[in-house]
Amino acid sequence: MYFASDNTSPAHPKVLDALAKANEGYMPSYGADPIMDEVRDRIRDRFEAPEAAVYLVATGSTANALSLATFTDPWTAIFCHRISHVEEDECGAPEFYTGGAKLTLVDGAHGRMDPDALRHAIRFTGRGGVHNVQRGMVTLTNVTEAGTVYTVAQVEEIARTAREFGLPVHMDGARFANAIVATNATPAEMTWRAGVDVLSFGGTKNGLMGVEAVVIFDPDKAWEFELRRKRGGHLFSKHRYLSAQMLAYLEDDLWLQMARDANHAGQLLSDELMYLDGAALVHPADANMAFPSLPRALHRKAKAAGAQYNIWPGDQSLDGPDDEPVSARLVCSWCTTEDDVDAVLSTFKG
Ligand SMILES: *Cc1c(COP(=O)(O)O)cnc(C)c1O
Repeated sequence: MYFASDNTSPAHPKVLDALAKANEGYMPSYGADPIMDEVRDRIRDRFEAPEAAVYLVATGSTANALSLATFTDPWTAIFCHRISHVEEDECGAPEFYTGGAKLTLVDGAHGRMDPDALRHAIRFTGRGGVHNVQRGMVTLTNVTEAGTVYTVAQVEEIARTAREFGLPVHMDGARFANAIVATNATPAEMTWRAGVDVLSFGGTKNGLMGVEAVVIFDPDKAWEFELRRKRGGHLFSKHRYLSAQMLAYLEDDLWLQMARDANHAGQLLSDELMYLDGAALVHPADANMAFPSLPRALHRKAKAAGAQYNIWPGDQSLDGPDDEPVSARLVCSWCTTEDDVDAVLSTFKG
């Protein structure tokens, strides 16, 4: 009953098999391994982007921070959603790696930036010459932190707004696979064709041991990214173990198969939770996450029975009146079964 996050799940057995296979003999280090050549080809092929630069790092925070640093100057603003991972969950890594760029928060329902709010925030920034922080970049998250997705049209609208001011666009795709499955879009449609310049292409939350790719659609930025990755201490020497995980991910579209299973479980869970007395939906379950609001007594029951999930936002207390609504986040992963969903549901029913 582990629904705290998708990173509580194990790695897919095929990933471990690929690691064992990659563990034979000698191979060039620092990303010059032949497995990485194949990863690069596959990602370019899958994204229909033959010029794209592809790099691997071990955490999503690194992928985000290095991407943002590569596309901005220290005296600029990075526009992101108020509840975005870069704002709430990266301990200032974006500010640190960019050398002090300023995260500028944009509102919008269900984790998606509102294009008008974004336009307003950009307009308001960098108007006064030398005294102001300048306009830097826009970053959006798909799947969002609220479990919703931006459709291709919605990504296009954000990117168009950024382009009005000549700003590049980053996508935090820690759950990119889940967004692709949810929208049925192709990776190209969801990214560079919609106006995205650089993507953090997640793997860890969706069945890898610990690898994220950075896909840079503007190859002119590649060298700077490489220097920043090394300088930041994130160029792996035994890189083949990152490559092997990512290759297994891409092989036979394992990444999409795992995301399909996770999304199926997430939607089933969200639907079923709504049958509980007093339940309401906080955010639509577009992908693999459910955000129910439930009477406090139900959470107490579920927690006492061992259900693992987070009260969300985390500043709510389980002490208080029984029937007061308390919201929560439950996340499904590639290995969440329908039985797992039934099991956690039964803890709320007591
Ligand atoms: C998990 C996550 C990341 C990456 O987090 P790390 O712990 O650094 O790997 C980035 N963005 C979002 C939206 C996430 O959910």
